[in-house]
Amino acid sequence: MTEHRIALVTGANRGIGFETTHQLARRGWTVWLGSRNRERGDESRASLLELVPNADVRAVALDVTSDESVVAARDTVAQASGRIDILVNNAGISGRFLAPDETVPADIVPVYDVNVLGPVRVTSAFLPLLRRSDDPRLVMVSSGMGSFGITTDPERLESTMHGLAYPSSKAALNMITSQYAKSLPGIRVNAVDPGYTATDFNAHHGTQTVEQGTEAVIQACTAERQPSVFTDRHGVIPW
Ligand code: NAP
Repeated sequence: MTEHRIALVTGANRGIGFETTHQLARRGWTVWLGSRNRERGDESRASLLELVPNADVRAVALDVTSDESVVAARDTVAQASGRIDILVNNAGISGRFLAPDETVPADIVPVYDVNVLGPVRVTSAFLPLLRRSDDPRLVMVSSGMGSFGITTDPERLESTMHGLAYPSSKAALNMITSQYAKSLPGIRVNAVDPGYTATDFNAHHGTQTVEQGTEAVIQACTAERQPSVFTDRHGVIPW
């Protein structure tokens, strides 16, 4: 495996994406910090350089809902780095958690645009760069809320939360991950559940720290052996 690793993280200007960028940069990797707003990306890069002064972190504008933005980001990365070793599809939104019987299609569309079509749009654009790696990895940041096994387990907090948009978007992402995993034999493909993590996503009500919430992502990026396709920081979890 090439010693020097190059990663791209989407939605990396805050939360789990920022912490993933931080953890990978600390390992000496080159990390492309994807941010839909370039200014926010530059600010986050500056904050990261305060934590890791010699980090090779590069901000790139990347809105996962825009073909134009994704292709421009791909061209920027291709020109400067030539390849990527790891793509972390992290950008995600929760949408409003409405009762299922109060939800209409218009509530679902924006959530699917970011959480389902976004990872497909970014993966499809960046696959040629990923294929130039000698150990390519594709990491989808999913959720226990997208797991049938977890959301129907009365012991789990996720079974108490009801909604159509976000849970079904992550369930769709899980199937997309499974299909990529079967059809891209040269690429290690993982979906990971960060667990309930204190970020802006849940107004910092999550019970884990952002470092804990990033563990499963980092494991998928760095593990010598792939444990399974769907994992959290403790190991294999049900689809
Ligand atoms: P967060 O703090 O709200 O951060 C979300 C990130 O996604 C932000 O950087 C945001 O950018 C970005 N984003 C949103 N729409 C985007 C778009 N169209 N294009 C590019 N970037 C976009 O959330 P988080 O907690 O770090 O969540 C990260 C991932 O973990 C998500 O996929 C989420 O579903 C998953 N997850 C989180 C938890 C949890 O408890 N926190 C649990 C399970 C799974 P802006 O700053 O521009 O809005």
